[in-house]
Amino acid sequence: MNIILFGPQGSGKGTQAEMLEKKFGLYHLSMGDELRKEIKSGSALGKKLEKIMNKGLLVPSEITNQIALKISKLKESKNGIIFDGYPRSMDQWLFLKKNFKIDAAIELHLTEKESVRRISSRRLCPKCGRNYNTIYIIPKVAGRCDDDNQKLVQRDDDTPKAVMDRLEIYHSQTEPLKKEYDKLGILSVIEGDQSIQKVSKDILASIKNN
Ligand code: AMP
Repeated sequence: MNIILFGPQGSGKGTQAEMLEKKFGLYHLSMGDELRKEIKSGSALGKKLEKIMNKGLLVPSEITNQIALKISKLKESKNGIIFDGYPRSMDQWLFLKKNFKIDAAIELHLTEKESVRRISSRRLCPKCGRNYNTIYIIPKVAGRCDDDNQKLVQRDDDTPKAVMDRLEIYHSQTEPLKKEYDKLGILSVIEGDQSIQKVSKDILASIKNN
């Protein structure tokens, strides 16, 4: 089973992808995480990606498409893939559709106001990459990672200007893909502004009905 999980920044894609990963033994392919790994490696490509990502812009589709293909080959033994943060534009969707059978496309719907509020409260462990949120995923010790006690930081691309640019791109390039999913009868829209548990429940119900 291959699932596309999409929604504006802060809609909880990462959290819900983890739930689906455990429940169905799927591989969680977070395109943002894959690109950040490349940055961390210090490669020339990573340096190029960092500049683009810190501005909140999309990196070239040739790069994301090749990552999607490479990872899917590596993870062939899994029961399928959750595409989180991919596709984000029409050319990425056309590439994905050509190479994979997509069973469900799940939108986590969130208003722009709530999206900005959630992102500005997002924190990250610089060591293990675990995500927190000062509103609803609160660490046991304020400002510290539960796993390794590292001081939590904000992502470089979570500045207000980059957040607004990313939302604009989401609305102009990613959201229109809904029409494509709808035409194929694979689209489900879930309200993201609910408790994590309720969003999970709605997602599971939508998969059952698919
Ligand atoms: P995310 O972690 O999903 O918020 O992604 C962080 C950043 O990575 C985005 O703002 C883009 O710069 C880049 N990125 C992630 N996924 C894609 C994609 N599918 N296409 C192009 N750029 C992407």
